Amino acid sequence: MSTRKHLIYNPVMECMSRDERAALQGERLVRTVRHEYENVPMYRERMKAKGVTPDDIRTIEDIVKLPFMEKTDLRDQWPYGLFAVPKREIVRVQGSSGTTGHPIISGYTRDDVDAWSEMMARTLTGAGATAEDIVQVAYGLGLFTGGFGAYQGADKIGAMVVPMSSGNTQRQIMMMRELGVTVICCTPSYATFLGETIRDMGLDPKKDLKLRAGCFGAEPWTEAMRVRIEELLGIDACDIYGLTEICGPGASFECLEKQGMHINEDYLYAEIIDPVTGEQLPYGQSGELVFTTITKQGMPMMRYRTHDICTLDPTPCGCGRTTTRMTRITGRTDDMLIIRGVNVFPSQIESILVRVPEVAPFYQLIVDRVNSADTMEVQVEMTEGFAASAPESIETVRKYIYEQIRSVVGIGTTVKLVAPKTITRSEGKAKRVIDNRKL
Ligand code: ADP
Ligand code: ZN
Repeated sequence: MSTRKHLIYNPVMECMSRDERAALQGERLVRTVRHEYENVPMYRERMKAKGVTPDDIRTIEDIVKLPFMEKTDLRDQWPYGLFAVPKREIVRVQGSSGTTGHPIISGYTRDDVDAWSEMMARTLTGAGATAEDIVQVAYGLGLFTGGFGAYQGADKIGAMVVPMSSGNTQRQIMMMRELGVTVICCTPSYATFLGETIRDMGLDPKKDLKLRAGCFGAEPWTEAMRVRIEELLGIDACDIYGLTEICGPGASFECLEKQGMHINEDYLYAEIIDPVTGEQLPYGQSGELVFTTITKQGMPMMRYRTHDICTLDPTPCGCGRTTTRMTRITGRTDDMLIIRGVNVFPSQIESILVRVPEVAPFYQLIVDRVNSADTMEVQVEMTEGFAASAPESIETVRKYIYEQIRSVVGIGTTVKLVAPKTITRSEGKAKRVIDNRKL
């Protein structure tokens, strides 16, 4: 346990006894399920199909009776099918790229935005931030939840916010230096890039910068990467987790003990399930993380399968919080890749390639991290007939595939058309993805 003083934004909610919390969660779940059943046809149908009515939900343990939701449900209900209040009560939408390259969105009422801001205020406070701090937001400010989440949390604690959004590294560093920024919010890979650039500029973070903490999330990272970021920037680096479907960043966050992320359990209920059977697993066992929102009005989520793999720890933390902590995300149960913050499924790339007659359905995605930024190379075999074509024709097809991926998936990739039969054939499951990123 560290000896530092821990700050807690909302001690009543974050430090209540576990029994009290379970009772509160039960009450909130009962209300939420009724709201969902009455206002969202899909929830009503799914519950009916499972033979469960709102009357069957009395305590938080009853949650196991409810059906699961998936990302595909959000896509199928696009755009407003899962909204549980009239549109005039929605004050915001935020989104992320979905399985088809089509975004998924979540709608927030005023209370939902306030709840999210509170979650992010707790998150920043967990990293030691107060009204005295100058917080630079280097997550993208836009449809993506990262930027607005960090902005709202920093605003709520009364810090001075520097809303930079992502990119333009030189400018980020200039503002950081000249304004005396103390807390930075961005992805861990961008934090590394910032740190390396600062070092390459010949600056010493300890002398030239006032940074002391960072909240980093939106993509997986490791303890080794934490050590690197902390050294490069001379700060405490805390992990934060979230997803658009649930609220955005701030679903859970690390305190300065850095022993797992505290889940904001008065707003969310977390479970770990066996991804194959769907059965709830006991604390301490690794499995798929499932979230249920228990206060959200605009677009509540019932037992949402995140596909993220982790473990839950209910023991009290050295900081004084009593909320359950989740470990770092150790993997995913599906094959989703996160490339520069964008969710990419290999199946999206495949569906583009199979529609191009000049190439064969043998392809490989090579993912790497160069200068702390993710890169992806798509290698695909040309058909025997096409391989003999003029270089200009090959270039036209290459460019076409590049443009298709860019518009459907939303990211720029390197596309390479390779000779027939050069991509290794596997006997079992094809190895489509080679992820060389060293986190
Ligand atoms: P966000 O806007 O929060 O990044 P998305 O909905 O685009 O939301 O992506 C959510 C996904 O990002 C999560 O399901 C998880 O796979 C990943 N993610 C977010 N935060 C973390 C984190 N701290 N560690 C590992 N993965 C994370
Ligand atoms: Zn703690």
